[in-house]
Amino acid sequence: MSFPSPDITPISAPYWDALKAGRLLFQRCRQCNHCWLPAREACPQCLSADPVWDEASGRGVVVSWVVYHVAYNEAFKSRIPYDVTLVRLEEGPQLLTNVVDSEAGRRLEIGAPVRLKIEREGELALARFSLDAAHADSNNRNNNSRIAGATSV
Ligand SMILES: [Zn+2]
Repeated sequence: MSFPSPDITPISAPYWDALKAGRLLFQRCRQCNHCWLPAREACPQCLSADPVWDEASGRGVVVSWVVYHVAYNEAFKSRIPYDVTLVRLEEGPQLLTNVVDSEAGRRLEIGAPVRLKIEREGELALARFSLDAAHADSNNRNNNSRIAGATSV
């Protein structure tokens, strides 16, 4: 079974086209500067219908995730268990994605830094992420020292 296709509309087409070219875009409101994904006609904060496209740095953090052990779509049967993760880009927008090297959620942590990793699925290019190992190591050290400080009080 083939990979399910997103519903690409004139509003979301720039997002999908940019991914094929290796760039992750998000929308920003010209009136209030709010940034968001997925693409929509109007700003979800002030309802101004005057957004522009900005390019994401590709850096973000894990907000939350689930691990699927059942394939509700035949196309994903060979991938289980796999994660569906909510990532917040450093520019603010959040997107549902996969963390490709997360070992199905075992190494994911809230706040774990991730990096954009655009992957092809047939004709599609998808914004997935990988754990930012170097940054994660220094974060763990900081977390450990905070925890040690808290328990000694
Ligand atoms: Zn706005």
